Amino acid sequence: MDLGIAGKHALVCGASKGLGRGCAEALAAEGVHVTIVARTASELEATAQEIRQKYGVTVTAVACDITTPAGRAQALAACPNPDILVTNAGGPPPGDFRKWSRDDWIAAIDANMLTPIELIKATVDGMMSRRFGRIVNITSSAVKAPIDILGLSNGARAGLTGFVAGIARKTVAQNVTINNLLPGQFDTDRLKKTLGSAASTTGKSMDEVFEARRLQIPAQRFGDPAEFGAVCAFLCSVHAGYMTGQNVLLDGGNYPGTF
Ligand code: NAD
Repeated sequence: MDLGIAGKHALVCGASKGLGRGCAEALAAEGVHVTIVARTASELEATAQEIRQKYGVTVTAVACDITTPAGRAQALAACPNPDILVTNAGGPPPGDFRKWSRDDWIAAIDANMLTPIELIKATVDGMMSRRFGRIVNITSSAVKAPIDILGLSNGARAGLTGFVAGIARKTVAQNVTINNLLPGQFDTDRLKKTLGSAASTTGKSMDEVFEARRLQIPAQRFGDPAEFGAVCAFLCSVHAGYMTGQNVLLDGGNYPGTF
């Protein structure tokens, strides 16, 4: 299927590796020029070079912390009028809510709620005036089924989800859609960190924890970031213009509910 987005420009955050990179690659494979953002310049530039070589699109790398006003200004200066915005940043650390301070909460809300909202605010009106825009927020399956040790993530992402539900209906008449993609367990560095922390609290080995988790997933495997990217690219396609305000769960069947 031709997704109809060749030649468009995308700003993809948190994209040197993992799910953000999966999205950037899937968009580049469709001929989209991508501006990719991450904090570590060397890793980001290596990813940019690989995407350029593989797909022949323009890839601009912006090394910054997207959760800061200065970082967002840098990213938006490099890609001032994106047709596609993929918001993403590292998730908050796991832990016991009794130990989280106000500063811990503010950091989580900044990264996983206010940063996407600020990026949407900076880009959505331009998209609406150009009559095309696709915004995809990478959130988490924890929005649908909270994970106890990830309380900071559960709380901050629920806030973003509520906000998106309100505005996604205000933009779609101008062909600007806003949707959230909810990863279950994907094989990325973030998953290794989360499972590492589960291993240290239970005293089990990493291998044991990985295997037990894998077997709990109906698909019997962790997700591949390329699969995540493919769904993101579809949401960004011309074919998905009638789909807005949705929370799309990609979890290998892990969520047990009917809806
Ligand atoms: P990852 O650690 O593999 O990659 C994160 C990417 O974001 C990297 O490129 C990193 O450099 C970049 N990044 C992180 N913080 C940043 C910042 N402040 N500014 C700019 N770039 C930043 O993580 P991932 O697994 O791809 O996860 C992406 C998001 O999805 C995270 O918020 C994570 O909590 C969430 N998530 C992941 C899973 C999973 O199974 N992997 C499950 C649920 C939710």
